[in-house]
Amino acid sequence: MTDHLDPKGSVLETVGRTPLVSVQAAPDSVPVYAKLESFNPGASVKDRIGKYMLERMLERGDVSPGGTVIEPTAGNTGIGIAVAAGQLDLEAVFVVPERFSVEKQQLMDALGAEVINTPTSEGMGGAIERAHELAEELDDAVVPQQFSNPLNTEAHYETTAPEVYEALDGEVGAVVAGCGTAGTLMGMARYARERDPETYVGAVEPTGSLYAGTKGADVEEGEYKIEGIGTHDPTTNELFEPELVDDVIQVRDREAQNELKRLASEEGHLVASSAGAASVAALAVAERIQQGKIDAPHDSVVTMFPDSSERYLSKGIYRSFEEWTE
Ligand code: PMP
Repeated sequence: MTDHLDPKGSVLETVGRTPLVSVQAAPDSVPVYAKLESFNPGASVKDRIGKYMLERMLERGDVSPGGTVIEPTAGNTGIGIAVAAGQLDLEAVFVVPERFSVEKQQLMDALGAEVINTPTSEGMGGAIERAHELAEELDDAVVPQQFSNPLNTEAHYETTAPEVYEALDGEVGAVVAGCGTAGTLMGMARYARERDPETYVGAVEPTGSLYAGTKGADVEEGEYKIEGIGTHDPTTNELFEPELVDDVIQVRDREAQNELKRLASEEGHLVASSAGAASVAALAVAERIQQGKIDAPHDSVVTMFPDSSERYLSKGIYRSFEEWTE
């Protein structure tokens, strides 16, 4: 695994085959393994869908070389799509509500993409609408729409999951991962359940997010600081399939921040808040497997660390809880 030692023609060939590293705080009898997605060239898990979605859309003729990809996104997906678009002879345009992090917008710009801002008051809905309007105006343009595009889930079914199963010789007891679009978890869950229908699947979201409501939990909506996962309206997260999920595990901002700091100081992981939340949940699942409260087919848990803390330093990710959340 992760043998990128042979010479490559472009950074696109270095997407995926990321390291799988044990989380040392796990119980000895139930190891937890995290896939380190910041090893991708755009430094997040979203490079996988950027490459996979654009390659498939080109193959299908949804867009042709020289055409344009337009995505409403404020974050890692823009960077992942920009990396792939640049190498696949596509123009990339991102529609981003003004309030979002300038760091990520600078990276999209550096990768040759165009960033168009929409008013903060119109939210992500306004950005989505503008993306579709732009696509209508242009000749050969396509909007991948990561929140509803099955290619998002398929990217993880075809790449992330097989890498994990190869690394662990198929001995995967539980899959636990954060859900933003839910493409990562759904792709892994579908693959896992085909291999063994008893595999435990845990979806992770911030406390205040509403995925848990889809499993019948009585949850209250609230604000959260954890970035990249969670939803205020599960009907817009069309890829999430509640029937593939055993439990939705909610993690508080404070627990996620404590854990991302611990992961750095004790284990050398420079990871962000969604990884902190994933680690809290994955360790809890490992404890429950050890105690016999979860009947998993193997004594192991796999989770994802989606990106790096460096992208959030200006937001005070390593400062006090109050400074980070204010
Ligand atoms: N963590 C971070 C930092 C992300 O940017 C994302 C993508 N929104 C996720 C986790 C969740 O991935 P997915 O969209 O596949 O659920």
